This record gives sequence, structure tokens and C-alpha cells, in this order.
Amino acid sequence: MSTSQTRYGTPGTKSAEYDYLIVGAGFAGSVLAERLARGLGKRVLIIDRRPHIGGNAYDFHNDDGLLVHKYGPHIFHTNSEKVFQYLSHFTSWRPYEHRVLAQVDGMLVPMPINLTTLRMLYGGEFSEDEAVRFLAARAEQLPEIHTSEDVVVSTVGRELYEKFFRGYTRKQWGLDPSELDKSVTARVPARTSIDDRYFTDSIQCMPLHGYTRMFDSMLDHPNITVATGTAFKDIPASVKYDHLIYCGPIDEFFDYRYGKLPYRSLDFRHVTLDQSQFQPAAVVNYPGEDVPHTRITEYKYLTGQQHRKTSITYEIPSSEGDPYYPVPRPENFERFRKYQELGDASSSVTFVGRLATYRYYNMDQVVAQALTVYARIAERETKQQRPYKSIVAAA
Ligand SMILES: Cc1cc2nc3c(=O)[nH]c(=O)nc-3n(C[C@H](O)[C@H](O)[C@H](O)COP(=O)(O)OP(=O)(O)OC[C@H]3O[C@@H](n4cnc5c(N)ncnc54)[C@H](O)[C@@H]3O)c2cc1C
Repeated sequence: MSTSQTRYGTPGTKSAEYDYLIVGAGFAGSVLAERLARGLGKRVLIIDRRPHIGGNAYDFHNDDGLLVHKYGPHIFHTNSEKVFQYLSHFTSWRPYEHRVLAQVDGMLVPMPINLTTLRMLYGGEFSEDEAVRFLAARAEQLPEIHTSEDVVVSTVGRELYEKFFRGYTRKQWGLDPSELDKSVTARVPARTSIDDRYFTDSIQCMPLHGYTRMFDSMLDHPNITVATGTAFKDIPASVKYDHLIYCGPIDEFFDYRYGKLPYRSLDFRHVTLDQSQFQPAAVVNYPGEDVPHTRITEYKYLTGQQHRKTSITYEIPSSEGDPYYPVPRPENFERFRKYQELGDASSSVTFVGRLATYRYYNMDQVVAQALTVYARIAERETKQQRPYKSIVAAA
């Protein structure tokens, strides 16, 4: 649990007044709370119905003192210097390049597929040119690309599709890749070099003391009141605020007027083992349908922690539970668009973050989105504060 939880109160019942109420203390809500308080001197109440700050990026030290990500591994990677500089006000970093192996044909091979993967699966010494020709010879020529299966089969061929993608996708989505839109696998990461880094972004690192410590630092401001374990619907009418920033599910906000927006969920099984290491990489993917989990994460690789024990998490996809991945089907996005129209018409509410915009975003994208929203608010505020004459002069 976050150490700073002790300083969080529940909002007072006697006419507490704020400029902003922010629902959701993940990246979207916390960036906006920090900016509004520090940048514009606003009084902010930020709430989360979970018992902690940090949203899905929340990490904590378990009973054995191992740093664990409660909602699965969160690896920071970005090409945005602006996002990195902003977050660097609240944390130092440890350099970290993420690597993933996949269990295929009884071996642990690099994922994304690269030169080493091909060498291990097919033997022999592939050169880069030979690998390009090898994949091209297997890629199926399809007249049109509609589905996720089409994307993969037309890039690396059916055999690698079946080994790496079909089972993983079926487990992840509960749907066959032939039933999923091509956008799910818009680009098949197959490399013909030996680069085995999972991400290729220019900036890859982890917050030195974890995400929760970083969030603690962001929200540590006299103008910010944090109330965890508090749902939006529980905010008493006596709490007054001028504007609402809502980072929760947009369909819930509008009482599911057009029906629920479907999500895929995950069950995280956290296990601590009485051994210093469990697997040879931070994450091992299990594309096989003989086991229910899609991947296992071992946190010590991510955190750099030295400990005689190790902590791992199994991820088991599920149709029930917390909303994690919007199900990418055209009818769902159509339903979202109807909610979005309602949102656009509500001038006293700003919708920000992955749940309010029904999109899978990486952390850096959500930070960028929140900074953009803040810039818009700051511009509006500045205009409102300018004397009448100068507005006329500028018009
Ligand atoms: C398994 C998994 C792994 C991921 N790994 C990575 C990764 O490696 N790298 C990366 O960049 N991104 C990763 N992500 C994405 C990352 O989690 C998101 O980008 C980020 O969490 C989005 O922040 P957010 O503030 O929009 O949403 P969230 O973090 O979900 O925060 C929203 C918060 O709002 C609260 N809330 C909702 N409704 C209400 C309500 N009515 N009242 C009060 N509180 C409410 C929720 O409890 C939640 O805490 C991963 C996501 C998942 C699911």
C-alpha cells in the first residue's frame, strides 16, 4: 500500500470547495491534478474508488518486501522527450530494456520473432538477407487484409502464425484471430536482425523507486486533496466544485444508456517463490492453448531488486472483471462514438484517459493526452484573466 495513504482524507461533509473534482488517480487524473495545482494554483480534489493511487500502474511491496505491479507489468517506454522530462520532475529512473521470450516447440525463443528465433526454430545460420527471403517465401499473398489472422499470415506465413499468434490471441481475446479486426495486429513485429528488445522507443526506463512513489510525489501539494476508496457516486452533494474531470468508464458515467462498452479483463495471480530466480527473462509468453495463462512476469528484472526470493505474476485473460482492453470491433467503437457525442455536449465535464476515451493507450500516451488537455485549460484560463481591452486588441 502507498505510504502516503496516511495523508489522504475523505472529502469533508461540510461544504468543501474545490475548483476541480478529478475522478480517477491514474496517470490521466494525477497529471491533471498536479498541473492544475502547481501550474494554475487550483484547488483539486482527486478521488479513486480503488484503495490506492496510480491506477493500473500501481506497484507495492508485498509481505516479503518484493516490489510487485498489482495490475501486471508496466514498462515505461516513449519517444516523447516532453513526456519524459515532465515525469522526471517526480522520479529518478533506472535504465531498463525489456526483453520477452516465448515458449514454442519446447524452447524459450526471443519474441518478437528475430534472427535468433529463426535460427533456434529452423537451425542453421540465417543471415539477415536469408531471413528476409525465408519470411517472404512463407508469407501468403492475400487479395485483401481484413482480419488479424490476415495481417500475420501475409507477413510471416501460417506456420509462425500458428506457433506464436493463434493460441495467444485466442486466449487473450476469447476470439480467433480470423474474427478480430486487422487493427489488433496492425503491424507484426518480426525482425530480421538480432535486436531482441521488446520496444524500440528512444527512451526506455523504469521509475527508480517504482510508480507509486512517483505518483506520491506528483500529488504532494497543499492544493491537492486525495481520497482513495472513494467512488464518484459517493461524493456528497456538500462537496462543491466548478468543473469535473472524469477518467472513469464513459458508459458508466452515462448510466449505460446505449449499453455496456465491452472490455477484455485479466486475472493476475501473484506468487512469491523461495528461490532467487524463476525464469531467464522478465516476461515469458505462453502461446500454447494447453495452459490458461498468456504470460508470466518476474518483477526483479524490471525493478532491479536484489532479494533471496522472487515474485512472479501469471496473467489469465477473462471476460469478467476490471476493464483492461477495449474489444476492438467496429460495433463497439460505434457505440463509443454515441457516448462521445454525449460527452462533447457536457460542457462542465472533461473526459480524459483510457476508460473515458475507450482506447488502449500506453502510459506515455495518456500523459501526453493529459498535458494537452491541461494546455487547453491553461489557455482558456489565461484568456479569461486577460483584461477586456487586451482581448479586444488581440481580436
Ligand atoms: C496488463 C496491462 C499492462 C500494461 N502494460 C503497460 C506497459 O508496459 N507500458 C505502458 O506504457 N502501458 C501499459 N499499460 C497501459 C497503462 O495501464 C495505461 O496507459 C494507464 O494505466 C492509463 O492511465 P489512465 O489514468 O487513463 O487509467 P487508469 O490507470 O485505469 O486509471 C483510472 C482510474 O480511475 C478509477 N475510476 C474509474 N471509475 C471511477 C469512479 N466512478 N470513481 C472513482 N474512481 C474511478 C479507476 O479505479 C482507476 O484507478 C498496460 C495496461 C494493462 C492492462
